[in-house]
Amino acid sequence: MSNQKWDGIHQSTKAVWAGETDGFFEGVAQVPIVNSVSYNHDDVDEWFEVATGKRKGHIYSRNTNPTVKVFEEKMRVLENAEAATSFATGMAAISNTLFTLLSPGERVVSVKDTYGGTSIVFLEHLPRFDIDVTMCETEDQDEIEAECLKGCTVLYLETPTNPTMKVLDLKRLIAAGKKVGATVVVDNTFATPINQNPLALGADLVVHSATKFIGGHSDALGGVICGKKDLVQKIYAFREINGATLDANSAYLLLRGLKTLKLRIERQNDNAMKLATFLENHQKVDQVFYPGLKNSKGHDIAKNQMRGFSGMLSFSLKGGFDAVRHFLPQIRFAHRAAHLGGVETIVGPPRTTSHVELTEAQRTKLGIPESLIRCSVGIEDIEDIISDFDQALQNI
Ligand SMILES: *Cc1c(COP(=O)(O)O)cnc(C)c1O
Repeated sequence: MSNQKWDGIHQSTKAVWAGETDGFFEGVAQVPIVNSVSYNHDDVDEWFEVATGKRKGHIYSRNTNPTVKVFEEKMRVLENAEAATSFATGMAAISNTLFTLLSPGERVVSVKDTYGGTSIVFLEHLPRFDIDVTMCETEDQDEIEAECLKGCTVLYLETPTNPTMKVLDLKRLIAAGKKVGATVVVDNTFATPINQNPLALGADLVVHSATKFIGGHSDALGGVICGKKDLVQKIYAFREINGATLDANSAYLLLRGLKTLKLRIERQNDNAMKLATFLENHQKVDQVFYPGLKNSKGHDIAKNQMRGFSGMLSFSLKGGFDAVRHFLPQIRFAHRAAHLGGVETIVGPPRTTSHVELTEAQRTKLGIPESLIRCSVGIEDIEDIISDFDQALQNI
């Protein structure tokens, strides 16, 4: 599908309308949830044409499904990509992509602060297939660039990162990747297509855990990859066989969430900025990590490549993990959970969630204080969140 018809159309209009006008069963106005596993073809010649991709249609829902297809089309248009394909989860999207692109003897360059599941693919699984993995210091743009220029098949980036919101210089690193002919993949989960479009900066593929901001309501798992048509086609062919397919019911929930994506993200950007500023000035708070803050390390790069600084921030408390023990139970308006990107505010310490497998020394080495709290700021009225956090901080 061409992007031409979307030229000049803005993100919220795309989120509402992309993929919605293709003509559904009995002219329904809303995308139907198609739970059918297979599709009838009375004419064997037609069936053959659909099966060989010469004619539009579906054969079997592990491969393609009408509801799932609308979700893929919306994401494709939002990332202004040539093609998109979807997965059961974000990790399915990431692992299918890495295993499609990499073969024994090849090399991938990435950073130490990738999402926990991605790190495990790098540390435990790719090496089993004799793939050389180099994980650089996350904010050391010089080191990442230098390692990339030594030669690699894949340059895998993620920005901003979990949990301390480090920022990678996409333009510079993508250029390095191009120089050595690497396929550049960017995990855009934290930023969303509202705040950042890595493909516009030259990346080949962008991956999302749709479970987070894309769905936005914490009730459906999913993943998606958008980018160059030939690459997406190869990854789709691998996914079709290993079976990590997005379910039609989840696709429907993600689609429903997507319609309000821009409204939610603008509100979450705004709320996070206000909460970060409040926390920065609080005497019980030690450090605040948010690329929107002017004195944050990644601010200048973020300002160049992002339209908003996202709804994610983290902060550490004075008084070590004991302070976290006292603070978290007092919060009224936040889930204490290992999740992010929902309409509700969500808080959790990396020490017990994303980085629980590491020792204190390993966390320190990654720059993760023991008293760090990651916060996914929701769409609530920020005055209520700020006064809630304030009373919980006073009571430590
Ligand atoms: C959650 C997350 C993933 C994994 O997504 P799942 O849907 O949980 O499999 C990947 N990358 C980032 C940045 C995430 O936050």
